[in-house]
Amino acid sequence: MRVFVASLATETNTFSPIPTDRRAFEDAFYAPPGHHPETPTLCSATFIAARRRARADGFTLIEGTATWAEPAGLVGRSTYEGLRNEILDQLRAAAPVDVVVFGLHGAMVADGYDDCEGDLLARARAIIGPDTVVGVELDPHCHLSDLMVDSSNVVITFKEVPHTDFLERAEELLDICLRTARREITPVMSVVDCRAIANFITSREPGRSLVDRIKALEGRDAVLSISIIHGFPAADVYDVGTKVLVITDGAPEKGRALAASLGREVLAFGKNRLPPMPTPAQAVAEALAISGGPVVLADRWDNPGGGVAGDSTFMIHELLKHGDVSAALGALWDPVAVSFCHAAGAGAKLALRFGGKVAPSSGPPVDGVVEVTAVTRDLIVPFEQSLVSLGAAAAIRIGALDVVLSSKRAQTFHPDVFRNLGIDLTTRKIVVVKSASHFHAGFAPLAKAVIYVNCGGPYPPDPAKIPYTKIRRPILPLDEIAEFQVR
Ligand SMILES: [Zn+2]
Repeated sequence: MRVFVASLATETNTFSPIPTDRRAFEDAFYAPPGHHPETPTLCSATFIAARRRARADGFTLIEGTATWAEPAGLVGRSTYEGLRNEILDQLRAAAPVDVVVFGLHGAMVADGYDDCEGDLLARARAIIGPDTVVGVELDPHCHLSDLMVDSSNVVITFKEVPHTDFLERAEELLDICLRTARREITPVMSVVDCRAIANFITSREPGRSLVDRIKALEGRDAVLSISIIHGFPAADVYDVGTKVLVITDGAPEKGRALAASLGREVLAFGKNRLPPMPTPAQAVAEALAISGGPVVLADRWDNPGGGVAGDSTFMIHELLKHGDVSAALGALWDPVAVSFCHAAGAGAKLALRFGGKVAPSSGPPVDGVVEVTAVTRDLIVPFEQSLVSLGAAAAIRIGALDVVLSSKRAQTFHPDVFRNLGIDLTTRKIVVVKSASHFHAGFAPLAKAVIYVNCGGPYPPDPAKIPYTKIRRPILPLDEIAEFQVR
C-alpha cells in the first residue's frame, strides 16, 4: 500500500483588500516534503493522521508539500499555479499510489480560478487515474463544488465551529480511505444543496445538538460519514452556500434522504442559528450590566481568520469613552506600530498612531500617548493541537485599556495572546478578542459571559447586502425561492 499526502489551503475573502502571494504562504506555514512538524495545523492534520496510520499499519507514506496562508484576499495566479504544480509534480513522482489524501480548505479563490480545490483535485485525478482512492479533508466554511465531489471518493469536513476536531476528522478520513483501498467498503457521496447561506456555530444551540446527533448516526446503518458544509459567504463565487454531504457504504438513496432531512433541520434554525450581535455601544452597556468579569466581547466581523485585516478600531474608540473600565483588546494587526513599540522599548511612553490602516472599513486610526508595557519577538499561542505565531508583538496601555498589537495576522485563539505579554485577564471587566468563534474553547473557562459584537465590518457581515455577481441564484437570504437540489 502506497499513500500520498499533501496540503494546500487558505480561505479567500474576495472582498478583502489584502492580496495573497507566495510569501503569504511561506510566512504563515510552509513545509516542503518531510519537513511537516509533528504538530498538526488546521488544514494539514491529514499529515499527522497519515503518519500515525503508516506506523501502525506499515504502509509506505509519501509526503508532499503542506502550506497554508492566513485567510485574505484573492490569491495571485502564479502563486496558486506554482503551489498546485509543485504538489502535482510530487504526486506524479510518487505514482503509482493506492490512496491520495489532501488537507485542503475548500474556499481558495485565485485570479482565474474560482474553484482552486476542484481544479487541483481534477488534475490530481487525471494523473493517478480512476482506481486510486482520493480522500479530502475540508473546512466546513468551504464552497463544495461538483468538481470537488466528482474528482474524489471521500470528502469530510470538520463538524465543529469553532474547529476543535480537525485531527479527529483527519483520522476518520484516513480510516475510510484505507478501508476503501482494501475493498472493505464502497463509499458513495450524496450531496444536498440547501440553496441557502445558513452557517451557524456549534459551541451553543441550536448547532450543538445537531452535531451531537449526526455523530451518533455515523458508523451504523451504512452511514460512514456526515458533513454539514456551512459555506463561506465572503466570496463572490458560484458555489457559495450551505450543503449536506452524507457518505454511505453503497446506499446513495439512503444518503440522499438523510442529507435532505438534515438540510431541512439546518434551514429550520432560521434567525436563531447565530447568537444576537449588538453594536459596540450596546455590547459595552450589556457587559457593564453583568456583575463581575471578565466579559468577553468577540469582534466577530474583524476576524483575520475570515480574511480581513484585524485592524479595525470601532471597539477601541468605544472603550476609550469608558475611561474607568478596565479592559483589554487583542490582537490588533499593526506591524508598523509594533516596530515603533519595539524601537521605543518596554516601559517607554510615546505618541502612537495605531489600527485603522488597511481600509475605510477598519475605522479611523487611534492616536494617543501610550505606554509600552511589554514586547516579544514572537507571540506564539496554542489552537487545539496546533501552535500559531502572531509574529513580533507589543502590549500597550492607553488609559485603562491594554491593547496587544501583532505583526502577523492571526485571530485571537487563546488567552496566551494576553498572558504572554503580562496582561492578567482575570482583573479586567471587558476583554475584546478579534475572532469569530475559535476563541471560544480558550476563553470560555475564564469568561463571566461571552457577547458577539457586530461592529459593522469589514468582513462583510450581512449576506443579504453583499454585492455578489457570480453566486448561483436563487439562494436564501438573497432570494425568496429556494429548494433542495439533490445531487
Ligand atoms: Zn472554518
